[in-house]
Amino acid sequence: MDVIRLKPGKDKAIRNRHPWIFSGAIAKAEGRLDPGAIVEVRASSGEFLARGYYNPRSQIAVRVLAWEPSVEITPAFWQSRLQAAIARRQAFAENPKTNAYRLVHAEADGLPGLIVDRYDEWLVLQSLTLGIEVSKPVISDILADLLKPRGIYERSDANVRAHEGLEPMTGVLAGAAPPKSVVIQENGLRFHADILRGHKTGFYLDQRDNRRRVANYCRGKDVLNAFSYTGGFAVYAAAQGASRIVNLDSSAEALQAAAENMRLNGFNREEDEYVEGNAFQVLRRFRDQGREFDVVILDPPKFAFSRAQVRSATRGYKDINMLGMRLLRPGGLLCTFSCSGLVSRDLFQKVLFGASVDAGRQVRIVESLGQGADHPILLTFPESAYLKGFICQVEKYAYTCAAEGNP
Ligand code: SAH
Repeated sequence: MDVIRLKPGKDKAIRNRHPWIFSGAIAKAEGRLDPGAIVEVRASSGEFLARGYYNPRSQIAVRVLAWEPSVEITPAFWQSRLQAAIARRQAFAENPKTNAYRLVHAEADGLPGLIVDRYDEWLVLQSLTLGIEVSKPVISDILADLLKPRGIYERSDANVRAHEGLEPMTGVLAGAAPPKSVVIQENGLRFHADILRGHKTGFYLDQRDNRRRVANYCRGKDVLNAFSYTGGFAVYAAAQGASRIVNLDSSAEALQAAAENMRLNGFNREEDEYVEGNAFQVLRRFRDQGREFDVVILDPPKFAFSRAQVRSATRGYKDINMLGMRLLRPGGLLCTFSCSGLVSRDLFQKVLFGASVDAGRQVRIVESLGQGADHPILLTFPESAYLKGFICQVEKYAYTCAAEGNP
């Protein structure tokens, strides 16, 4: 049997059901220890703590699958975990207006390293760890059996695989190959999702609820949708009657897809603009040109991939948010997001405070936003919280103090 024995005093987190064991906490690894092997984790006293999979090449050496000594990691184990994750999304399965959502959110669903997203009749699987790589064929068979999709496509091309010593992998795992575009529905709106090549597994499913919240403020408004990607926020804003939408992205291809998504929903709007460029520069140019908006949406990509990058990430967030605040007409709304897990909600709010000081604006948070219900946050694994956002009302300071200027 393969056994990982922890150093004395290194068992607290795992007793609290945090599912990661860092290599530095390990005193001894015994057994054959094949790559991705299932191991028993024991305290320094020898007491059983958990069972998980092992990767000596990763800093996260063990990811825990079960804390009960009686639970063996068999096909039946994977089946029951997958069934439980699917059952948690019952409300999504029954919603006729949304057919694209996350089915398995890795650690937060008790399945570390595994992402499964549903795009209508297709499933997209992302395997992020060696342990999942080993069981991928079993997992794929179970998913095919439980959900009967037309096909399961693998999008294991996330950079984090390198930390596990894994190459990127993409391709068909089961059934048919998906077409270049799968048309999905979200809250009754339609989108082309590019399962084969799009970001993440094809679409930013985690922003579904936030698109709706933001769109509520867009009726009759001039909207700047910065970091638009394929126009998720723009389509919702148009559906709510935004008078003009400027989509801004560094990718011409994404902007083209955004325009197609608008047409797909019957929005053939002459008044909208598609601006290709670096947001850090374009927002400055807009400021210099004196352009103004009623709503500014900022949904940038992840800025911080490691702790060492958090400082420069906060500088980036502060800069675009300061610019975003300045581009707003008085009383306008800044809808701002950060998907860097390493930047906490608290820190993000502090960054917005700094931006407001530099912009010379009075800012009120009117809504706090997060990731959708299909991307749950497990309390024992706070790392599963990564997306945060704020809708803010932005005003100029009014100097009404009678004493001002008087001797
Ligand atoms: N809001 C989108 C998701 C945004 S993803 C949605 O709801 O679907 C982030 C986007 O930012 C990507 O499309 C990427 O091309 C773009 N991007 C990254 N860096 C950028 C930059 N410096 N300037 C403008 N766009 C950028």
